[in-house]
Amino acid sequence: MRFGAAVLRAYEDPFTVEEVVLAEGPAEGEVLVRIAGCGMCRTDLAVRRSAGRSPLPAVLGHEGSGVVVETGGTGTGLGVGDHVVLSFDSCGHCRNCLGAAPAYCDSFAALNLFGGRREHAARFTDGAGAALAPRWFGQSSFAEYALVPARNAVRVDPALPLELLGPLGCGFLTGAGAVFNSFGVGPGDTLAVFGAGAVGLAAVMAAHAAGAVTVAVDRHPGRLALAERLHALPVLAAPPGPADRIRRLTGGGVTYALDTTGSAALINDALRSLRPTGRLGLVARLHDTLPLETGTLDRGRTISHICEGDAVPGLLIPRLTALWQAGLFPFDQLIRTYPLADINKAEHDCDTGRVVKPVLVPDGRRH
Ligand SMILES: [Zn+2]
Ligand SMILES: [Zn+2]
Repeated sequence: MRFGAAVLRAYEDPFTVEEVVLAEGPAEGEVLVRIAGCGMCRTDLAVRRSAGRSPLPAVLGHEGSGVVVETGGTGTGLGVGDHVVLSFDSCGHCRNCLGAAPAYCDSFAALNLFGGRREHAARFTDGAGAALAPRWFGQSSFAEYALVPARNAVRVDPALPLELLGPLGCGFLTGAGAVFNSFGVGPGDTLAVFGAGAVGLAAVMAAHAAGAVTVAVDRHPGRLALAERLHALPVLAAPPGPADRIRRLTGGGVTYALDTTGSAALINDALRSLRPTGRLGLVARLHDTLPLETGTLDRGRTISHICEGDAVPGLLIPRLTALWQAGLFPFDQLIRTYPLADINKAEHDCDTGRVVKPVLVPDGRRH
């Protein structure tokens, strides 16, 4: 079948929306999904700086949502017409997958970032028949259709606004999962979030829903105003650093901190904002050695990296949609939709911070 998709052909080029070809329908265990919307995540844009590790030409996009139009075999657990949110790929067989920690799958980087499953490559070509990279994050959803392992497709209530749900598969899942799964935040806890982007604001919403007091740190006043609307106490990231202010606002420091920036200065500030035994989670990729200032890890403080919010997508995504229905996780307020044809404008708006979470909509419907 032939359909439209946004193709990235060179690391420095804009996306081109063109016709691509899937040679075969779903194999056993796969489903074909008509994409309703796909969020744009920092990880898509980081491909440009992957120095050749992520193969091109590729169809990116890993926060897809849509409708199942064909199933492969009888064991997918999904049926034609089901509404699904697509999440990251995992093998299902390694020690961490068996232990309900698919974000730490032994094959995570290979499956999601650096080439996908080889057996998928030959089936996906451009309009002239030249091979495209195997599916990105098991999906490649900047497109009208995506062929995905059923393992990565989570069925959702058809009453939900399907075209907006894709970011629940990665960005929003990462922030909310850190709060619910990694930290186990509850009433009486305090959380400081560094960086009020899609991941940070999802953490703010989740922590508020869990009854915690949240502080949001960012250098953009506009982002802080948005965080404040989501019930966070705003703190500007400016010299001499936000730690003292956070400690004053929270009666001596926070129980948890989440860094979404990857900035060494802010990570040290985050550690200084913690109470004794407090925990800092990092979600951004570090591009350099991380210098920790003396004393920042004293008194039982811990620091660890968190991938995909420690989530089992099939458990966390329904929890997030239920919270949205209850008015407690208003993620739609962070989204702006763009027709797929405007993907380069969406990238520009994402890069410049004009929009928190762009969602590409293949048929050009606007939210
Ligand atoms: Zn695995
Ligand atoms: Zn992502």
